[in-house]
Amino acid sequence: MYCCDQLQEAEARGALYIGAKHRIDDGRIVNDVNTEYFIRAAGRQGYDYFGVNYCPFCGRALSLDLWAHEKKK
Ligand SMILES: [Zn+2]
Repeated sequence: MYCCDQLQEAEARGALYIGAKHRIDDGRIVNDVNTEYFIRAAGRQGYDYFGVNYCPFCGRALSLDLWAHEKKK
């Protein structure tokens, strides 16, 4: 599920990980955002993953959690 081409390109380049949190095994998750979208950056050991709820390129809501919240409004 991609909101824009830039997001898709970021994943293709490995700058973005899309998937379940518990499947990340080559680094650590830096923040505590409930999402399936993570910015990946080289850390001291393995990678650092930054969870994001919004697309860093076009600003649209990304995570399923957020979609669920918006629907309830
Ligand atoms: Zn986008």
